Amino acid sequence: MSNIQVLATERQIRQAVRRIAREVSRRYQEESILLVGVLTGAFVFMADLARELYRMGMTDVEIEFIDISSYSGTESGQIRFDRDLTVPISGRHVVIVEDIIDTGATLAFLLKLLEVREPASLIVVALFNKVTRRVETLPSERIITGIDLPNKFVVGYGLDRNGKFRHLPFVGIVAS
Ligand code: 5GP
Ligand code: MG
Repeated sequence: MSNIQVLATERQIRQAVRRIAREVSRRYQEESILLVGVLTGAFVFMADLARELYRMGMTDVEIEFIDISSYSGTESGQIRFDRDLTVPISGRHVVIVEDIIDTGATLAFLLKLLEVREPASLIVVALFNKVTRRVETLPSERIITGIDLPNKFVVGYGLDRNGKFRHLPFVGIVAS
């Protein structure tokens, strides 16, 4: 068993997901929204967020995934685009569901990519946020974040290290 130092507990994550869901439901109330999860890391957050939105009374919710990854840890902001959405988003209220913001390169790319498809609105919810690493400027009025983390490589709650640890119900650092 790997030794993992916990940075965000299950309880803290649950509270953050609830806070984000409350903000999304406040903004969109009776609207129909399309949640766009960024694979693979956002799959756990998506599952919890989507159900929390239902509990808060949002019934008109659709779910899609897009596959984009950045070579994290580099300043180059190189993006790999592996799988597009399967539906048009013109005129839709789109909420990008992301696991973590680091340099901001992935989200800057994604916002540009989806903006030109003319959604009715486009915002981002990101569960984790490494504030000190930001290189790209992101439109703060359109970003809702959950838990701030230090500049450390973290795993769990969807986030992996070499494909492993995505299934941890909390987030932490692997001591290796
Ligand atoms: P950015 O483009 O903002 O630099 O990086 C965002 C992406 O890099 C996230 O979607 C995530 O996939 C990955 N990432 C950033 N920081 C971490 C981390 O600490 N752990 C893991 N597993 N992935 C990370
Ligand atoms: Mg990612």
